[in-house]
Amino acid sequence: MKILVQKFGGTSVATPESRLAAVRHIERAREEGYAVVVVVSAMGRKGDPYATDTLLSLFQVDDAQRPLAARDRDLLMACGETISAVVFANMLRNRGHKVQVMTGAQAGILTNDDFGNARILDIRPDRILTALGDDQIVVVMGFQGANEAGEITTLGRGGSDTTATALGVALEADAVDIFTDVSGIMTADPRLVDDARQLSQVTYTEICNLAYQGAKVIHPRAVEIAMQRNIPIRVRSTHSDDPGTLVTQAPPQLEHGALFDRFVTGIAHSANLTQIRLSGHGIGTSSIFTLMAEHDISVDFISVTPFEVAFTVGDDVAEIATQKLQELGYTPEVRRGCAKVSVVGAGIMGVPGIMAKIVEALAVEGIDILQSADSHTTIWVLVDGEHMGPAVRALHRAFQLAGNVA
Ligand code: ADP
Ligand code: ASP
Ligand code: MG
Repeated sequence: MKILVQKFGGTSVATPESRLAAVRHIERAREEGYAVVVVVSAMGRKGDPYATDTLLSLFQVDDAQRPLAARDRDLLMACGETISAVVFANMLRNRGHKVQVMTGAQAGILTNDDFGNARILDIRPDRILTALGDDQIVVVMGFQGANEAGEITTLGRGGSDTTATALGVALEADAVDIFTDVSGIMTADPRLVDDARQLSQVTYTEICNLAYQGAKVIHPRAVEIAMQRNIPIRVRSTHSDDPGTLVTQAPPQLEHGALFDRFVTGIAHSANLTQIRLSGHGIGTSSIFTLMAEHDISVDFISVTPFEVAFTVGDDVAEIATQKLQELGYTPEVRRGCAKVSVVGAGIMGVPGIMAKIVEALAVEGIDILQSADSHTTIWVLVDGEHMGPAVRALHRAFQLAGNVA
């Protein structure tokens, strides 16, 4: 059996028109002889009635309210995908298809107990395979699974991508299609950069690096899972026939090895970060990071010298982080609303002058670098949130990433 997993994101299932466009992609795949497993996200984005953020906002109306228990929060969030899948399945049925709709648990997705960010431990796809064998289209609720005790869990925000690739692996699918509201993976978020260029092929590693730095066009964990078994991913638009971006282990070499010589893949960004700096002689570095870990606060962008410790945390936990540091006797300097802008590309390793180029491109725009760091594939700079868009555009220009499809 040739199996294709087709995942449709929130905007792709938000309206009857977009659901119809999605259905057409499924029908085309069936005409090509594929057994199709559909994975859907909750409908729409923040503000739309059944979107995940809208469901969550039901419990933020009043600050005095007690926070929702993690288990209940997952039950609430899972409703978004449940509603979406039932509505979508009904449309398929009305067009004459045989359909079976399944929760994550019914689809055999077993996770650990980490509510809100559960990891998939195993997939038992028997029910899906039986339904496919019966020529049914299977519609699976993305983003959700269940632990050994049968409690509903969710896979972390953006986790429907993970459902799709994990099912792709479990079913040994020919490919996983990620349908979304852009025509493929671009050299930067097209919302920030008008002339961002679509990439026709990327490696798992390239897109994983971009996704971990905030390019939310696909969830990085979804890419890692597909990579384990070499399942090709195609990131495509629901609203066109554009083949989108093909993600594989090693894309076939273009003329003169152009793909492998790619220097910078793209520019990613992530907002809503708070920079915390502590200065003075003999700062208790280990006590600072132990303290953050004890309060489950994840830190990033860590820079340590004998005179200063600097790091970032999410804006949402800045207050508690600051308070805990003050309780320990520190006087942190806190800068909220920062953004991390990343230049990502396997080709940057060991190439002289890259940092100079970044510094110059930002200086020309009057953008201060608050902190920087680098690895063999990525150079990060921290900037003020208001400089995020200009910084992404300046770096996109500096590395000449605009142009036609590559
Ligand atoms: P979905 O609901 O379909 O999962 P997402 O909002 O999660 O959609 O992801 C698609 C969005 O990712 C696009 O609308 C785009 O703004 C954003 N994005 C960020 N970086 C990139 C990039 N490098 N290429 C394409 N899209 C990107
Ligand atoms: N609906 C979930 C979210 O908004 C999962 C997803 O869309 O992939 O995070
Ligand atoms: Mg998404």
